[in-house]
Amino acid sequence: MSVMSTFFQVVGKNKLANKLALRFGMRFGAQRFVAGDKDAEAIKCVQELNNKGLLTMLNYLGEFVYTEEAAHVATQNCIKTLDIIHHNKLQSNLSIKISSLGVDISQEFCLSNLRKILNHAQKYNIFVRLEMEDYAHCQGTLDIYKTLRQEFENIGTVLQAYLYRTMDDIKDLNQYNANLRLVKGAYLESGQVAYQNKVDVDKNYMEMIKTHLLNGNYAGIASHDDKVVEEVVKFTNENNISKDQFEFQMLLGIRGDLQQKLAAQGYRVRVYVPYGIDWFGYFMRRLAERPENVSFVLKNLFKK
Ligand SMILES: Cc1cc2nc3c(=O)[nH]c(=O)nc-3n(C[C@H](O)[C@H](O)[C@H](O)COP(=O)(O)OP(=O)(O)OC[C@H]3O[C@@H](n4cnc5c(N)ncnc54)[C@H](O)[C@@H]3O)c2cc1C
Repeated sequence: MSVMSTFFQVVGKNKLANKLALRFGMRFGAQRFVAGDKDAEAIKCVQELNNKGLLTMLNYLGEFVYTEEAAHVATQNCIKTLDIIHHNKLQSNLSIKISSLGVDISQEFCLSNLRKILNHAQKYNIFVRLEMEDYAHCQGTLDIYKTLRQEFENIGTVLQAYLYRTMDDIKDLNQYNANLRLVKGAYLESGQVAYQNKVDVDKNYMEMIKTHLLNGNYAGIASHDDKVVEEVVKFTNENNISKDQFEFQMLLGIRGDLQQKLAAQGYRVRVYVPYGIDWFGYFMRRLAERPENVSFVLKNLFKK
């Protein structure tokens, strides 16, 4: 964690400073990674990406909600995002965090919120993905996914390569023909549950991608890593895996060059577009991930 991210974390804990960060933070660099805090900004951002031949997944930002009221608001925000996608004919699906929908209050409550969202999405034929958060939510996310997968076609989830358990989950989810986003993992996890060494994470990542694809399932390969992209291109060519069976996924503001290059080669590329006022935690993870992102923010801080 860098000096800059520590600075932002301290700011995040102070009420007044947090308000100021929310008000002015977009100017300090968050706007590179977040479409904006208004619906119109999200719509414009998605339209621009769609016009470049890129698909998107919208996420109304929010996580770690502990009151029913806040979870209801988050549910309504997801439903509103679905309306926005449908009414503006956006080529987008929806990505959500169950911690924003009350899973920490009760699983039944969260399931009922998710059923509202999935029913609404089903009417519009929009796909919904349950993101994978910290390890404490991993089993709960998979339990919820499996329950809802038996009721809905338009649902998928995410698996993280840094967890020791993930290859077992890949095998287990095969019986659900799971549409999975496969990632390396973004949260700080202990050596008790997760590989600590990047070499091990990268190795497990390629193994899970190959296994899932060879099982005939759909994969969202979510990485900005050139080596991963090259290996996936080579592997799918060698194994006659159709370009319709997978997509590359990248975050807004990261590797736009690679996104365009892959789309021009006929690969399906989907960009993650977060928006809304609760952008702080998301922005912090992007800073923690990569020192270059911090220097980008610093430059913005001192720009007029
Ligand atoms: C669409 C999407 C959705 C995600 N959803 C989740 C989720 O639900 N749960 C979760 O835990 N994590 C999620 N992640 C985050 C993921 O787990 C990783 O933390 C993140 O993608 C970094 O890993 P990487 O494979 O991209 O690259 P790394 O392994 O971090 O880096 C490898 C190489 O990739 C390139 N690279 C990486 N980042 C950047 C950058 N910012 N700018 C330029 N080049 C870069 C560099 O060449 C770098 O050397 C998601 C990521 C994406 C792209």
